[in-house]
Amino acid sequence: MRVNTLKRAAVAFALALPGAAIATLVAAPAAHADGCYTWNRNLTQGRSGDDVRQLQIRVAGWAGNRDIVENDGRYGPKTAAAVKRFQQAYGLRADGIAGPQTYAKLYQLQDNDCTPAHFSYNELDNGCGGSGWSGGPVSAAQTKQNALRTMWKLEALRKSLGDKPLNVSSGFRSRACNNQVGGASDSQHLYGNAADVTSRTSSLCQVARSARNNGFSGIYGPGYPDHDDHVHVDSRRENNSDRSSNTTSWSAPDCGIGAGSD
Ligand SMILES: [Zn+2]
Repeated sequence: MRVNTLKRAAVAFALALPGAAIATLVAAPAAHADGCYTWNRNLTQGRSGDDVRQLQIRVAGWAGNRDIVENDGRYGPKTAAAVKRFQQAYGLRADGIAGPQTYAKLYQLQDNDCTPAHFSYNELDNGCGGSGWSGGPVSAAQTKQNALRTMWKLEALRKSLGDKPLNVSSGFRSRACNNQVGGASDSQHLYGNAADVTSRTSSLCQVARSARNNGFSGIYGPGYPDHDDHVHVDSRRENNSDRSSNTTSWSAPDCGIGAGSD
């Protein structure tokens, strides 16, 4: 697998090489084959492309308070700010430019299936004991992609809480599963966009408070009905397939978190 990946990367790199890019190339990171994804150039504000989009998925949890990183493949100020927060969190030089150091840390964090080190597709898939990503309102592929972004946000949440384990008690739910557990009819869980989280080392309020800085636009925790034993986090603002407006919705009254109050 590794050899194939390396070959593919080399071929893609050669094909994508425009004559005028030589100067950029000199400063680009050395080729590094990674089982999941390999970046072949430094990224900074103004760049666009699938490599930016791949980066945005991985720094989505470093969006900053009440903000999100759009997964639009355009490296704007919010992407730069998220990269900077990522770099700060991991002790790298915080310049907001994705280069060799940033990529090395991402390669270290990502598994070969592109999930972050401390979360897996198994943990996030059909919460009622089934497996897979079908049975929701969007395609299985889209659902799985949403779940991947959810996991990278969870990795950031975990890191923000001192790198202590977080447990996911419910991730993606098919419609049947969601009905079975009495979930909301248009729940973000149906889209792979949500996780219910518990922790043995952080209080639920600590989890909920931190989640505000980790790109989660939906947060429900202690004091909100039926949320005293877990914190629900989701990415409703990024979801254009649901029936909700793309706005932030937080409620954990016992933690001092209320709609509009933070
Ligand atoms: Zn939930």
